[in-house]
Amino acid sequence: MRAALLFAASPLLRYAPAEAATGAEVTEIAPGIFVHQGRYELQSPENRGDMANASFVVGSDGVAVIDTLGSAVAGRELRHAIRTVTGKPIRYVINTHMHPDHVFGNAAFKEDNPTFVGHYKLARGLGSRAERYLAINKEMLGAEAFQGIEVILPSVGVENSLSLDLGGRTLQLNAQRTAHTDNDLTITDTATDTLFLGDLLFSVHVPTLDGSIVGWLALIEELLRLTPARVVPGHGPHAMAIPEALSPEQRYLDAIATDVRKLIRDGRTLEDAIKTAGFSERDAWKLFDHYHVRNVTAAFAELEWE
Ligand SMILES: [Zn+2]
Repeated sequence: MRAALLFAASPLLRYAPAEAATGAEVTEIAPGIFVHQGRYELQSPENRGDMANASFVVGSDGVAVIDTLGSAVAGRELRHAIRTVTGKPIRYVINTHMHPDHVFGNAAFKEDNPTFVGHYKLARGLGSRAERYLAINKEMLGAEAFQGIEVILPSVGVENSLSLDLGGRTLQLNAQRTAHTDNDLTITDTATDTLFLGDLLFSVHVPTLDGSIVGWLALIEELLRLTPARVVPGHGPHAMAIPEALSPEQRYLDAIATDVRKLIRDGRTLEDAIKTAGFSERDAWKLFDHYHVRNVTAAFAELEWE
């Protein structure tokens, strides 16, 4: 009986100790590019904010981290994974956008004294939402997983583009127009032609709209003209191919935009929209019930002024 209980408890124990020297699980998707795949969940004490993808790129001179997961605890596990792969200095921590599941692990890298890099609008966006983000995450993560979280804003803001030389490979950073948020940054590794899209690409996990649906759909059209060897989504598998990777997201956003525009034309209200718009997509996505109404609400507010 005792043995059975211990056995039953072991999956939880894997995640419980905050100081556990366990590394986040990572997959090398191309030479020197490692991706950790987050879970399709809301933040909880059990997942410790490990619900987005996070990556690192190893050059001959140093390492760049791309997103840091949703807590300092999870960020430390990502750092541990980096240290099992390479002892090279962590020179850059790049955040693809302001959302907590991508930036709240930043504190785990403070000791490396990296340059923190983000879209130039990230600091303003995260700065003004920090108090709310911290309160929500404290509540959802619980005290243990919340421990050590700090809001660390970029020391370098990218206004158009920026190149980072890691030695033997260059990361090309591009600030994007308002789409998923107003501070999405894409990153291309020139050595392997890998494009990190952050939350401009959701797969499996329903997209979350916190910027502009019109801007996002327009940006998807532009992204579809690119021909990288592979893309890394903010939520979804470690690596994917475009155009296929972007089609479900495009279809989802287009369904919302089409339905909401029709409802507005027919003189219907937001209350009608949140009950019907985009519901043809319901079975296609995880976490649909949690985020979809918010997406429709944001789309309605934007599209009623067209
Ligand atoms: Zn995210």
